[in-house]
Amino acid sequence: AKSRRGNALCFFDPSMQVALSTRAQLLADLKQALPEGQFRLHLQPQFDAAGQLTGAEALLRWQHPQRGLVAPGAFIAVAEDSELIVPIGRWVLETACALLARWQREPALRELGLSVNVSQRQFRQADFVGMVGECLAASGARAHRLELELTESLVLEDVNDSIAKMHLLRTRGVRFAVDDFGTGYSSLAYLTRLPLHRLKIDRSFVQQLGESHSDDVVVQTILGMACNLELDVVAEGVETQQQYDFLVAHGCGGYQGYLFARPMPVEDFEALAAGQGGT
Ligand code: C2E
Ligand code: CA
Ligand code: CA
Ligand code: CA
Repeated sequence: AKSRRGNALCFFDPSMQVALSTRAQLLADLKQALPEGQFRLHLQPQFDAAGQLTGAEALLRWQHPQRGLVAPGAFIAVAEDSELIVPIGRWVLETACALLARWQREPALRELGLSVNVSQRQFRQADFVGMVGECLAASGARAHRLELELTESLVLEDVNDSIAKMHLLRTRGVRFAVDDFGTGYSSLAYLTRLPLHRLKIDRSFVQQLGESHSDDVVVQTILGMACNLELDVVAEGVETQQQYDFLVAHGCGGYQGYLFARPMPVEDFEALAAGQGGT
């Protein structure tokens, strides 16, 4: 009886009421965001070991009329639960492809790649491959400049569907990266079965480089494995010189993190790229 009362109390917990109405309000607002044109893409620069700009990751932002600029952590899960992630994800891809197509005409921008995050529900749509193809065709973007980031857990949740879709898109030239690499399953057998281009070492391993022996070993192992499998690597969330030095010393080829640049509006990224003086 006590635990029942506990549950009942929990149910009427005023703070939970607030949480529920906030979530309902969030969902209602989220439904309006696409038709109202409230989404933005911010771009976080990526660099090679020589410090050359190589491209960017597209990160979704929501310009909420009252709350201001909202980061995806606050709404992606709600969008995923409600299937709103499907049209939102399509908007992200359309916008990214339109950017790539525009960059093709600019000498300082034409060599840059653009990475786009793909959510589980979006990737499982039966027409996902066709949708990406339409975005590429409609924009005229070159497919090999587009990289789709998939997490390990997404890929492995239905590995046959993943392999089939990835091969179809790879045939068209689209590239794939494993996002948050090292945080998912420890079975690496799937790596050789997938048409992968890059691994993105998760920020959680990068954070304590040079301080945590086990993270040092994990990162060295990932770098060695990627080298053997002929995959490129991007280290995510590089914040300190110490982390960067460790990664350079161990042959990491790609870098992304606050040490170099934060995610920024498209115009700022384009100005940065122009300032690098082309390639
Ligand atoms: P993610 O794909 O792992 O993206 C990297 C996140 O790390 C970004 O957070 C980025 O701002 C942040 N970050 C980059 N460098 C550093 C650093 O040096 N230090 C720290 N502390 N953080 C750093 P953001 O933009 O808040 O995005 C969070 C997550 O939301 C992303 O994680 C991704 O899973 C998801 N997301 C973002 N955009 C999209 C999208 O268009 N579609 C989908 N499905 N998910 C998205
Ligand atoms: Ca990502
Ligand atoms: Ca990541
Ligand atoms: Ca992450």
